[in-house]
Amino acid sequence: MMKPRVFVIGAGAAGFFAAISAAETFPDAAVIILERTDKVLAKVRISGGGRCNVTHACFEPHQLVKFYPRGNRWLKKPFKAFDAKDTVNWFTNRGVSLKIEDDGRMFPVSDSSETIIDCLLYQAKKFNVQLKLKYGIDRILPQEDGTFLLLGKHDEVVEADKVIIASGGFPKRTGYDWLRERNIEVVDPVPSLFTFNIPAFDLVPLSGISLPDVKIRIVGTKLETTGPLLITHWGFSGPAVLKLSAWGARALNQMDYRFKIHISWVATHTEDSLRALFEEQKVQHPKRGISGNQLFFIPQRLWKKLVANAGIGEDTRWIDASKKDLNKLIENLFRAEYQVHGKTTFKEEFVTCGGVELADVNAETMESKKHPGLFFAGEIMDVDGVTGGFNFQNAWTTGYIAGKNVLK
Ligand SMILES: Cc1cc2nc3c(=O)[nH]c(=O)nc-3n(C[C@H](O)[C@H](O)[C@H](O)COP(=O)(O)OP(=O)(O)OC[C@H]3O[C@@H](n4cnc5c(N)ncnc54)[C@H](O)[C@@H]3O)c2cc1C
Repeated sequence: MMKPRVFVIGAGAAGFFAAISAAETFPDAAVIILERTDKVLAKVRISGGGRCNVTHACFEPHQLVKFYPRGNRWLKKPFKAFDAKDTVNWFTNRGVSLKIEDDGRMFPVSDSSETIIDCLLYQAKKFNVQLKLKYGIDRILPQEDGTFLLLGKHDEVVEADKVIIASGGFPKRTGYDWLRERNIEVVDPVPSLFTFNIPAFDLVPLSGISLPDVKIRIVGTKLETTGPLLITHWGFSGPAVLKLSAWGARALNQMDYRFKIHISWVATHTEDSLRALFEEQKVQHPKRGISGNQLFFIPQRLWKKLVANAGIGEDTRWIDASKKDLNKLIENLFRAEYQVHGKTTFKEEFVTCGGVELADVNAETMESKKHPGLFFAGEIMDVDGVTGGFNFQNAWTTGYIAGKNVLK
């Protein structure tokens, strides 16, 4: 009897994980990965600055889902089957130890993405997964007997009993035409994980300064976040900005990436607590110059700049400061306004917001509800996380589940 043929479209993180999981679960199947380019695991190689941020040390599925602007509710079931703990165990049991950094990101102890690639290649080989490179699939034709014909760019045709689509996200709407042709619903793609460009940025001389805890709010929306911020020579970056870009991916796209932000450099303070603190300075250190009297954990250079922006002279002492001066300083500390115009891709990690509509995918098996026998894994679906290893976690989880269920 002929072996059942499982074809996986795409040799990325999700495709490899799906293929290994399928081949390990169903040893009698022929599992073949078809990859459009001449490279495998290309994003894994460059991920996390070449170190591959494999997952995040968040070991409770109900907490883990909170890091996904798209897919957070839908991922509850998949994470019950395979979560970050399972990722750590999977790699550890196959000889790759992972370490946790202070911010929770997990990397291979080797600090090299090659370790992850080697492991995936080894496992694929061990379970006889076949790999065909330069083999892009342009069309999927479901057959009456429940099988599929997969058509390549150069008229190649393969017959598949089951198909796992793990082709990643596409930046343009047209990238999904081959799926729409099969009535697979696709949410239009927009980029996620980017930094904010600020033309004529007055903080350029301070670029390189990072602050551990600022609050950023996008004016006119409910988008707001707190976290570390990095001043760059083109605007703002850092975890807080990336998080906002992910949660606001669609809204910010609709605004054509032109919007106002308010920054509170002192996220833990309120206007009242700032005012009380300044009054205290007036009493306790009346003769101290404000500009030289750095308060909070703000770097000296930024404090000086904020004091100057408030129109307070370099020699002004606390005792000399008028109520108006202090109000201006509070305004600059608490609600510094910047006009964002454009975005810059965050090269460490960027993802597509959008993709295959989750309502059409069975969260327990990854099977298409419209096309039995067709499965999805990874970024091709409308799932994406903030930075920190969450996007690979989605690839591992959904790839693992698709592989486990593909011939059930
Ligand atoms: C620079 C960068 C750094 C990143 N760093 C991290 C990180 O450290 N941690 C993290 O969690 N996430 C990171 N990400 C995000 C993460 O890489 C992706 O979410 C993840 O790779 C998605 O895996 P995937 O297998 O679904 O898709 P992909 O990795 O995009 O793989 C899809 C594969 O399918 C192939 N393909 C596409 N269409 C076809 C077709 N029609 N026929 C055949 N083959 C096809 C593609 O060529 C590709 O090889 C990073 C992303 C980038 C761009």
